[in-house]
Amino acid sequence: MRTKIVVGNWKMNTTVKEGIQLAKAVAAASSNVNGVKLIVAPPFTHLTLVKEALKGSNVELSAQNCANKESGAYTGEVAAKMVASTGATYVILGHSERREYYGETSEILLNKVKLALANSLKPIFCIGERLEERESSRHFEVVKAQLEEVAYQLDKTDFEKIVLAYEPVWAIGTGKTATPEQAQEMHAYIRKVLAEKFGSKAENTSILYGGSAKPSNAKELFSKADVDGGLIGGASLIADDFIAIAQSF
Ligand code: PEP
Repeated sequence: MRTKIVVGNWKMNTTVKEGIQLAKAVAAASSNVNGVKLIVAPPFTHLTLVKEALKGSNVELSAQNCANKESGAYTGEVAAKMVASTGATYVILGHSERREYYGETSEILLNKVKLALANSLKPIFCIGERLEERESSRHFEVVKAQLEEVAYQLDKTDFEKIVLAYEPVWAIGTGKTATPEQAQEMHAYIRKVLAEKFGSKAENTSILYGGSAKPSNAKELFSKADVDGGLIGGASLIADDFIAIAQSF
């Protein structure tokens, strides 16, 4: 049985005060969610205080990024070890916004994934194609390369710790959701590619869908066999919507 997971990626939203309020609202409502692991990913500045706000609930904490260096003279960066010291247990890596706006390559991302794992953080590793890549029917090839360049480079023990998130770039923050059939097709493909390298272990990997998921479309998306949950951006900023999405299983 794969773990069902719903992650709220708050991105660069909320002040500390607003973040604490949101975390408290999610924590309070989380008892209405059964059989789904809930994770919130606030900005770095909020991690310690959000951890405190989540106390007494089962909601876990994730960062949205970490550095590709261990420590030292890297002004403005936040190391995996620092993230872990806040009580976070996950870290989102490879989000298309990081790849696109901050030039994060597979080489950089592999370093980040390894450092996260070395510091007991579980990476939520994002993959997905751009619109032009789907329109030119290169989406499978692009996603396969992203997996080969990072996930394939891990040993089996580390591979078992990662969560994958398929996020078609054209669906992120655009209001344009992949159809449940498109999501299932790609998730099944991802699992097949992973099985070529990791055998039956690929059956246990949670593969989340991300891209304009909301309460009104989550049920259909989550009904698909290989869709094990969601990475939620915009809709995770409203506690009731985030919880409603998790209740869609
Ligand atoms: C995301 O940022 O991972 C995401 C899926 O965003 P949205 O739900 O807003 O499309």
